[in-house]
Amino acid sequence: MASTKTKSRPLVLCGPSGSGKSTFLSKLMTDFPNRFGFSVSHTTRKPRPGEKEGDHYHFTDRESIKKAIDAGDFIESAEFSGNIYGTSKKAVETVCEKGKICILDIDIQGVKQVRNTHLQPWYIFLMPPSLEVLENRLKSRNTETEKSLKLRLETAAKEIEYGTTPGNFDFIVINDNLEHAYSQLKGFIEGNVLKEENNINDVQIA
Ligand code: ADP
Ligand code: 5GP
Repeated sequence: MASTKTKSRPLVLCGPSGSGKSTFLSKLMTDFPNRFGFSVSHTTRKPRPGEKEGDHYHFTDRESIKKAIDAGDFIESAEFSGNIYGTSKKAVETVCEKGKICILDIDIQGVKQVRNTHLQPWYIFLMPPSLEVLENRLKSRNTETEKSLKLRLETAAKEIEYGTTPGNFDFIVINDNLEHAYSQLKGFIEGNVLKEENNINDVQIA
C-alpha cells in the first residue's frame, strides 16, 4: 500500500482594501509555516515602504504584464484602483510544488475568474466592521493618496455587496477585534481546510 498526495485546494482570501487581508495572512504564515504558501501576484503599482520584490509582489509595468497575460501566463488578472494585478500560473505552481496549500489574496474580479478554473479553492471573505472603520484603518495605514483612498472606498461598498451575497463565499469573517476575528478564521481553517487536506493525504492507494 502506498499513500498518495492529491493536489491541495487553494485558499482565496478576498475583502476590501484595508479589511485586514495582509494582517491575517502574516498571522496564518506564522501559525502554519509549513502548511501554507503565498501566491505572489504581479502588480503595476509601486512598492510600499517595506514591500520586497518577489516577496509581497512581483512589481512590473503595464506593457510587460499585458504581454504576459496575452501569452496565457496568468490564471486571472484585474484592474484595481488604477493598477493591474494578476496571478501567474507560476505563482501558484511554485507553492504547490512545495506541497503547501496556496493562498491567493485577490479582489472580487479575480474571484469571478478563478471560479471558471479547475482550482476549486476555498473562498473566504474578510469584512470591515463598517465603511467608516475601513476608511480610518486605510488612513492610518498611510499608504494611499487621496485619489487612491477614494477609489478603494468606492470599490469597497460593491465588494461588500458581492462578498455578503449568499453562496459567493464559504466563510465570512468580520474583522472587528483582531484576535477574535483571527480566531474565527483559524477555527474555520482548522475545522475545514486543514481537516480536508489531512483526510486527502491519508488516502491509501493499493
Ligand atoms: P488589506 O491587506 O486587506 O488591505 P491590512 O492588513 O493592510 O489590509 O490592514 C489595513 C490596516 O488596518 C493596517 O494598518 C492594519 O494594521 C490595520 N488592522 C487590520 N486589522 C485590524 C483590526 N482588527 N483592528 C485595528 N486595525 C486593524
Ligand atoms: P494592494 O494594492 O492594497 O496590495 O491590493 C489592492 C487589491 O488588489 C486588493 O483587493 C488585493 O486583494 C488585490 N490583488 C492583489 N493581488 C491580486 C491579484 O493577483 N489579482 C487580483 N485580481 N487582485 C489582486
